[in-house]
Amino acid sequence: MRPMKLNEYRQKRNFAATPEPQGGGSVEKKGKGSLIYAVQKHMATHLHYDLRLEWGGVLLSWAVPKGPSLDPAVKRLAMQTEDHPVEYADFEGVIPPGQYGAGTVMLWDRGTWEPESPDVDASLKAGEIKFTIYGKKLQGSWVLVRSHGLGGGKNPLRSAWLLIKHQDQYASTKDVEQDEPRSVASHRLLAEIARDGGGDVEKASLGDPASKGAPATSVKSGPGRSRRRKGIS
Ligand code: MN
Repeated sequence: MRPMKLNEYRQKRNFAATPEPQGGGSVEKKGKGSLIYAVQKHMATHLHYDLRLEWGGVLLSWAVPKGPSLDPAVKRLAMQTEDHPVEYADFEGVIPPGQYGAGTVMLWDRGTWEPESPDVDASLKAGEIKFTIYGKKLQGSWVLVRSHGLGGGKNPLRSAWLLIKHQDQYASTKDVEQDEPRSVASHRLLAEIARDGGGDVEKASLGDPASKGAPATSVKSGPGRSRRRKGIS
């Protein structure tokens, strides 16, 4: 356990105002040796997908602006973000305006994962993590490769990685974000999660696939839009 790793996560958030978990509680394991995998679709200042892999008592996290691609020919930028508490893998809801990452969070995929090399700390350091995902939407073999050419910067926790699907039976050219836009936990779209949580429904709906039945909405500039953000949460 490395509880110090959650300092950055906690410093960024006001737990009196956000429904996000503070972490530090005991989490019941699904089974011996199983590590949590989750992807959260997050309509914040910009839409992105947060990939989370449990390791060392926390969730290692990457923000993937375009989301994962099932096509091995497509490399998706994945910016590493602060470690999150393991409880975060169950979070779906609305982060109130003014709070870090304000917007709507959907639990887009969930399951377990397995590193293909047992020493994940060494893989993190080396900048290449090969792993297998056992999710509902994502499965099979993937790799995260740290990129030195993409503005990785000096802070290793703000480094740019590429998320790439390996060629296997789960590789495909289908657009999984477009084809499977709903929550794996509640089957809701982003707009429905925002509505239920008292969030910005119009803004959230921008992250849902365009549907013919949906009323035309104009894009309002919400409170988070005028504010310059420090990074992708
Ligand atoms: Mn996020």
